[in-house]
Amino acid sequence: MAPIARLFDFIVIGGGSGGLACARRAASYGAKVALIEGSGRLGGTCVNVGCVPKKVMFNGASIVEALEDAKHYGINVGSHTFDWGFLKQARDGYVKRLNGIYATNVAKDNVEYVDGEASFISSTEIRVNDAVLTAKHILIATGGHPIIPALEGAEHGIDSDGFFDLEAQPKKVAVVGSGYIGIELAGIFRALGSEVTVFTRTAHILRHHDSIIGETMMAEMKRLGIKFEHNMSARGIKRHEGAELPLELSWSTTGQEGVSSESYDCVLWAVGRAPNTNALNLGALPEVEINKTGHIVADEYQNTKVPGVYTLGDVYGKSELTPVAIAAGRKLADRLFGGERFAGSKLDYVNIPTVIFGHPTAGTVGLTENEAKQAYGEGGIKVYQTRFTNMYYSLTPYKPPTAMKLVVAGPEEKVVGLHLIGRGCDEILQGFGVAIKMGATKKDFDSCVAIHPTSSEEVVTMR
Ligand SMILES: Cc1cc2nc3c(=O)[nH]c(=O)nc-3n(C[C@H](O)[C@H](O)[C@H](O)COP(=O)(O)OP(=O)(O)OC[C@H]3O[C@@H](n4cnc5c(N)ncnc54)[C@H](O)[C@@H]3O)c2cc1C
Repeated sequence: MAPIARLFDFIVIGGGSGGLACARRAASYGAKVALIEGSGRLGGTCVNVGCVPKKVMFNGASIVEALEDAKHYGINVGSHTFDWGFLKQARDGYVKRLNGIYATNVAKDNVEYVDGEASFISSTEIRVNDAVLTAKHILIATGGHPIIPALEGAEHGIDSDGFFDLEAQPKKVAVVGSGYIGIELAGIFRALGSEVTVFTRTAHILRHHDSIIGETMMAEMKRLGIKFEHNMSARGIKRHEGAELPLELSWSTTGQEGVSSESYDCVLWAVGRAPNTNALNLGALPEVEINKTGHIVADEYQNTKVPGVYTLGDVYGKSELTPVAIAAGRKLADRLFGGERFAGSKLDYVNIPTVIFGHPTAGTVGLTENEAKQAYGEGGIKVYQTRFTNMYYSLTPYKPPTAMKLVVAGPEEKVVGLHLIGRGCDEILQGFGVAIKMGATKKDFDSCVAIHPTSSEEVVTMR
């Protein structure tokens, strides 16, 4: 039997953050849209194995910390226990409800949801299940997946997807990798009571962020009892069936002879993510360019090298964040289907704020100090910094720091970077992101009267 052929204005491959936003916006302009999702559930990484379940776990971890803080305020909460299985079940239930809400919204917006894995036949034809869907415009928004390194026994470890499958709390965890995902998950494990060691390839963590973030975060994580193994290369994992800590992780350390090893009941690989392109049969479109990291190359309007084929989000690989994928998706739909007034619509990838839900939280926007030096020259920038204890900790014996760095450039002292770490910094950043996006200078920051007593007042009083 010949496959069923269906004609659309727009086919979106991938029902994650970017694909959903783009499909729904396109349909709002009256376009006939098909949204193809291969995993059987809508929402993509963010909803199912990313931001959302991570934030639920982070919230749980923060409550445990608050219980510890409470006694220093005279609040006796007695002893408490924590039930990982309960939290997982409640979290999974919440995610399932979100999956349902997405499916309802998609149907309400007249987007046709097609359940199946999409692959290209040509630049206008997609095969999914036994159907061929045709459209003049096709978006690739297939996201990415965590990398498991090619090491002996690596499959005995889990990745960030596996973190969300854990039914019980591991006692002793090795987190290999110190990007934001590794640091966030290490912090959650520790706050909830696991013993944690973070393994890093260098002497630093959060290397892609300003040094004030990584240095402050590491010091505070150490205070919380997290151990670090630096300058290491993982060698592999041996599984010892029946042992209490069955996973023996081995590694070598730069400058040291031999191989070290230690046993854990959970090894979590947080060594990076790779784009999802394998199933797409991109061989059918040889003009589509793939870069060295495997991401699909596009211009600033999300056009690939093939007219009518677009890409965005994690598979495109620029600022891999949910709001970036959503914003790029909406801009693209505006441009393709929103009429003349949106002809030049595209996402500006400059000054995108982002947060690390570590313990403590950190927020960052714009250039790091080093990036600013490269862009404006050593003498072209000035750095304002502050370090203090949030008043919340005035009564506790432990004093987690808050640290802030403002990077300004040129004689007008335009703010080109803001890096915050400490209690509440996740919520502080967004408003300052607006100011920086508008081109605020240090003088503009100074002209804003401080809100007292807060942490954020320090952002407008740095000298
Ligand atoms: C642990 C973790 C925590 C994170 N925390 C945050 C955070 O706090 N804040 C933040 O902004 N970002 C966070 N992110 C990143 C965020 O989740 C991603 O940037 C975002 O989901 C990317 O959206 P996307 O639409 O590009 O891809 P995705 O959301 O991954 O969606 C892609 C979809 O395409 C589907 N697909 C793939 N191939 C095919 C095919 N051939 N046919 C049909 N369907 C296909 C996939 O099943 C998937 O559903 C986190 C990520 C992780 C892993």
